[in-house]
Amino acid sequence: MAPESPRSPALLPHQADPSTGLAHPRVELHVHLDTSLLYPAAKQLIPDLTPEAFRERWVAPPLCRDLTHFLDTVNPAIDLLQTEHALETAFRALVSDLQRDQVIYAEIRFAPLLHTRRGLSPRQVAHTVCRCAREQAAGTGVTLRLIFCTLRSFRADESLATARLALDFRRDGVAGLDLAGDEAGYGLAPHVPAFRLAREENLPCTAHAGEAKGPESVRETLLLLQPQRIGHGVRSVEDPDLVRELADRRIHLEICPGSNLQTRVVKRMQDHPIDQLYRAGIPLSISTDGRGISQTNLTREYRLVREAFGWTSRDFRQTNLMAIEAAFCDNDVKRHLAALLPDPPAEAMDPHRA
Ligand SMILES: [Zn+2]
Repeated sequence: MAPESPRSPALLPHQADPSTGLAHPRVELHVHLDTSLLYPAAKQLIPDLTPEAFRERWVAPPLCRDLTHFLDTVNPAIDLLQTEHALETAFRALVSDLQRDQVIYAEIRFAPLLHTRRGLSPRQVAHTVCRCAREQAAGTGVTLRLIFCTLRSFRADESLATARLALDFRRDGVAGLDLAGDEAGYGLAPHVPAFRLAREENLPCTAHAGEAKGPESVRETLLLLQPQRIGHGVRSVEDPDLVRELADRRIHLEICPGSNLQTRVVKRMQDHPIDQLYRAGIPLSISTDGRGISQTNLTREYRLVREAFGWTSRDFRQTNLMAIEAAFCDNDVKRHLAALLPDPPAEAMDPHRA
């Protein structure tokens, strides 16, 4: 999908970024297509839609009761994304948003089996999004990869079908398999065969864990699914042995601070474990999770972290390098992306350095 030798992305002119004091290219590993339904896309699909109606229907409350409540608010977006045209429209708007947000590489994830309510087959869904990703990568210069999600609530056969579909579309830009959905409500057993198949075929994997449940859920996920990365994983901080293990094994955490505030995993940003996990040597990076449902972007996410913990442009450069290291793309692409990050700033020049 993305060019084998990616060209320099058509970044919009770099403006001084108030969130970090440095406008630099970013890498995003954890962003969902369905929760990133943006107003311009919805407006294209529903011409008489007002911003107020969009906000009411497709944006989650700033504070949800919990992850389950947050996930309930995803349904209206799924309902809308049931045609090739709707999927393409949402995808294009998302990539434009990534480009505006200085993203040079993104892994966009979605569950193909959720978009079949109005007659599309999972293969049609996969084909449509893969084609759109290829076109958008070529048109914008943002290097894109796709991750197919199975959901906690899926049966074993649905999970396995998702893994097979990901393998079938590997040459079309699908780079990995994810497990998403209601962590607290469902176990892992039905998904073990899907992740085993992915492992046998060397398809990289990630899985949501340690968000609605504690460190035991991260341990269980690592044991049973053996993913290279964990989506969120923030509650690992509750178990010092697990923190050491994640650091030693270089298990990358895809951390989405704003999403964690919204689902009440943490009460205040100052309580967020990202700084502690970072200082413990765990590889991690910052993502948005859902740009539409949470009305966020990386500029906002970086600002949250900077305001709470005083991170400097040096720290954000480091997390972007760790994202590149953990990305589900080949080494040529990784070298190219790393070369696009600016040199570390001189400390004297960095106004945010403590
Ligand atoms: Zn997620």
